[in-house]
This record gives sequence, C-alpha cells and structure tokens, in this order.
Amino acid sequence: ISALPVNFIQNIISEDLKAGKNGGRVHTRFPPEPNGYLHIGHAKSICLNFGLAAANGGITNLRFDDTNPSKEELEYVESIQEDVRWLGFDWEDRLFYASDYFEDLYQYAIGLIKAGKAYVCDLSAQEIRDYRGTLTEAGKESPYRNRSLEENLELFARMRAGEFADGSRVLRARIDMASPNLNMRDPVLYRILRATHHRSGDDWCIYPMYDYAHPLSDAFENITHSVCTLEFADHRPLYDWVLDALPLEAYPRKVEGRPQQIEFARLNLSYTVMSKRKLRELVEDGYVEGWDDPRMPTISGLRRRGYTAEAIRDFCERIGVAKRNSMVDIALLEHCIREDLNVRAPRIMAVLRPLRVIIDNYPAEQVEWLETENNQENPAMGSRKIPFSREIYIEQEDFMEDPPKKFFRLRPGGEIRLKSAYIIKCEEVIKDEKTGEIVELHCSYDPDSRSGGPNSGRKVKGTSHWVSAAHAVPAEVRLYEQLFEHENPDEIEGDYKEQFNPNSLVKLPACMLEPSIREAAPGSRFQFLRQGYFYIDPVDSKEGRLFINRIVSLRDSWAK
Ligand code: ATP
Ligand code: MG
Ligand code: MG
Repeated sequence: ISALPVNFIQNIISEDLKAGKNGGRVHTRFPPEPNGYLHIGHAKSICLNFGLAAANGGITNLRFDDTNPSKEELEYVESIQEDVRWLGFDWEDRLFYASDYFEDLYQYAIGLIKAGKAYVCDLSAQEIRDYRGTLTEAGKESPYRNRSLEENLELFARMRAGEFADGSRVLRARIDMASPNLNMRDPVLYRILRATHHRSGDDWCIYPMYDYAHPLSDAFENITHSVCTLEFADHRPLYDWVLDALPLEAYPRKVEGRPQQIEFARLNLSYTVMSKRKLRELVEDGYVEGWDDPRMPTISGLRRRGYTAEAIRDFCERIGVAKRNSMVDIALLEHCIREDLNVRAPRIMAVLRPLRVIIDNYPAEQVEWLETENNQENPAMGSRKIPFSREIYIEQEDFMEDPPKKFFRLRPGGEIRLKSAYIIKCEEVIKDEKTGEIVELHCSYDPDSRSGGPNSGRKVKGTSHWVSAAHAVPAEVRLYEQLFEHENPDEIEGDYKEQFNPNSLVKLPACMLEPSIREAAPGSRFQFLRQGYFYIDPVDSKEGRLFINRIVSLRDSWAK
C-alpha cells in the first residue's frame, strides 16, 4: 500500500473512516458530461477521484452525466473512456449513465410533489429570473407556488406525456424565495425539451437539471465522497436539500447512505483555455485540426503530441489539491514530460533545417560507422553506430558567415566538432547567385580528430549534430508553441480567439534524420540532440513518409 495522499480531501476521508462513517466505505466517481473531449483539468479530477479511492481501499465509478441531450454525443462518450483508460485508470464494471436514472429521478420528483416540496410553474424563463430577486433583494413567489398537490401531479404527468410546448412549464423545488443563497430560491428541477438523447432517444421530453440529477445519481450509486470544483460550493445547500427532501426509505432505489459534496480548486493552465465550449469552438472554427490537435490541452491532444500518461499523472500530483483557484504555469507540465523522457528516450541526431556540407578531403566512396551513446544520462541504454560520409547535413543555424563574438559554431575558416565524429573546418561558402542564400559549405576534416580515437583530445569550442546525406531519412517535423499569446486568454476583453498564437504550429517539411529512425515504430519517442523530445505521429506517419511532433524543447542544449 502506497502512502496516503496529502490533501484536505484525504483528511476528510481519514476522519470519516475513523468515525466509522459510511460503514468504512470510500466510493468516488468521475462524472463527465459527454459534450466534448476531456482536457488536462479533467485529468486532475480523474487522478484525484481514482487516486483517493485506491489509496483508501475504495472504488470509483465512471458516470456519464448525460442529462442535457442537446450537446451530447456518442463520439464523446467513446473518447472519454479511451482517455481515462489511457491515463491508467480502470472503472472495471462500474460504468454508469445518469440517463439510466431518468425513471427513478422522475419517481423521486413525484415524491417531492407529494411531500409539498415541488410544484409545476408556468412562468417563462425570463419571468423566473425576474422573480428570483438579487443578492440584496428577496425574490417574489411564483403565483403557481401554491397549486394543489393533485394539480401538480396531474400537470407533471402531462409534462412527461408531451402535452406542453418546450419551455412552457417547469417543475421547481419549493424551498425559500427569501434565501440569501440564490440557488435555493425555488430552483428549476425539470424542463420540457424535445431533443433526441444519444441513449434514451425520444423516450423523454422532460429532462432533469444538473443540481437535481447529480446528488441523486451520487446517492443511487452509493457514492460516499462527491468531489467537484469550487463553483459548486454555492450549490452545496441545494445538493443537500435534494438528498434530504425525502427519507432514504422513500428513495426509488435502495441506498446505503448519503453522499457528501466536497469542492476543490479547478486547474487553470497558462497560455491555453480549458472550457469545453471554447475548445469546441477552436475545433469548429478551424483554429486547430481537431480535438486531438497536438496544441490542444485535451488528453487526446497531449497524447497525440507525445506526452506520456506517467508525465500527466506526475503533473496532477505535483499541482496538489487546493481550496482556492489559481493558475498553473504550463512550464510545470513541460518539466514533467522532460523529466519522464530524460531517462527513457533514446537520443538520435536530426537536422531540422538542413545545410549541405561537403568534406572535400574525405574519400568519395567511403562510409565509416561511428559509435555513439544512446543516452548519456542512462548508460544502460547502450550505444549504436551511425554512418559518416563525405556529404553531410548540419543545422543552418550552426553556421554564420559573419557571426557575433560569442558564436561558437561554424564560421568561414572556423572549426567545430561533429558529435561522435571529426572536427571539420569551413573552407568555402557557396551561395545562390541570384538570392545570395547560402546553399552549401565546403569543408575539410581532421582525420586525427575522430571521437574516441587516440588523438580525439583536440578541443574546439562548438559541437554540432549532423547526419550523413546519403543515409539520411527525410521527415516532416512539426514544432509547437503555446496555443495563445496571452497568459490568460479567458481574462482579456473581447474575443479570446484574437489571442490565438499564429506560430503555435510551425511545419518543417524537409528535415533529415539519422537512419536508425527507420527501425522505430510509430508512437516512439526520442530526444533529437539539442532540439528536444519528439514523437513519431502514429496517425499521420504512413509507409515511406514520417511525420514527427515535437513534444517539448530542451531547456538547455549540451553544445558548449
Ligand atoms: P468544462 O467547463 O470544461 O466544460 P465541466 O466541469 O463542465 O468542464 P464536466 O464534464 O462536467 O466538465 O467535468 C467532469 C468532472 O471534471 C467534474 O467533476 C468537474 O468538476 C471536473 N473538472 C472539469 N474541469 C476541471 C478543471 N479545470 N480542473 C479540475 N477538475 C475539473
Ligand atoms: Mg459539468
Ligand atoms: Mg461544462
């Protein structure tokens, strides 16, 4: 058994267990609405709910909170299950749908009416808002509040039977129009809505509201600790009211007790947006290529980018669980993936913006296979051989014709070491006659300088990565930056989409990779020396054409 999590929710659970509450059971749930793909904020909730249960010998349900048919789809139901599993969590046989409780929720509502605790109201949505009052002003009672029990039962049955138009009537809780908590001023429990539900089809034309369906779904599943985000703190009195409005014996399902709502701070991440509505907008308006675009903060986007589930779980652990909202720097997420991949990703050489180099004093037909380590941080990963020949590629930015003082790479007449190979010297710069662009370099090499050889000790300031031109494997590499230019796009005035970062995707179609990449399966991860961590995109990479995503850049390059 691993150590208990350190957070205030664990403290509540520990107290409950000590007091023998819930018969010693710990039962949590993760309750997504299937109206979009899961994002990294959901990952926090998933890790928390599954993590708390596992640490306390408990269990966790996956429940689709599918009571709002107009925005929900099967595609989302499927992607959510895939994402939770990929993150490493298992609900076993505990997959539930709030829509499976529609009949029970309806029966409970009849119980509320019979207890004088709910009524059918004919006010329009606007009138209900107007009657509700404000924080400083008590609300006004609906003229329909004191309908007889019989009339309420009859009207509610007719609402269900489809006799009334959408929006013409609602069922409301009869609580307190003078409550200081606006949520308690006779909230709506049911509305009339003709929309085809992705599971129950057209069986229903009345649908329960979240504040009504959620506590009861928790109770029906015998949830003990119902963890949600802070915006629901003001709804907790209503959560409790719904559960306590009828005695447990009067519930349409046998239940073992009654759940407790606990709120924690939601995750906000810098330079991105997290609400599903906004993420959907980015997809639908073509800012990104889909929910799994590698720039998206969705779980499927992070996966497609090359993030590991381990790194995401590590991130969720490090951010902790607080009672106050705050913004987490996206750099922390990047730190977690770097740490994860540093020890396990093999290193290879890849030239992202190739510059051809011809080594004139190297024999034309010769190829040497040079030894180089797979991961200097992890010697257990061994070494491999890379081909060296007369024509190679180096990185365009590793050469400057007229460099500033502290430029330690190649310049006319200057030298650099090629990683695990030789020292070369730039003898001649060839330019395009029309554009003046540098097209290739002619160099000489020092045959005595071979790395690992007897005379390898000669030092030059710069070391560059390179690939042999004849052996290079072409690929398209995609570099990603933050999705938005503003740290908190939710906060700016006007349309958050104006802060979209046009450089969030840079495609480099003509990269040259060392030939060992040929043996790698799609979905493999590498460190490209000096460039960062990369992932072979398993969706786009087809026979003969490689597409590679940069997961994250390196903080430091090893070149000295
Ligand atoms: P969104 O506003 O992005 O649509 P939501 O809260 O409406 O999110 P749900 O599908 O209802 O999305 O969320 C399922 C669970 O995930 C809820 O318990 C919710 O509290 C939690 N959750 C959602 N967003 C975050 C977040 N940013 N940080 C932590 N938990 C979150
Ligand atoms: Mg929600
Ligand atoms: Mg939502």
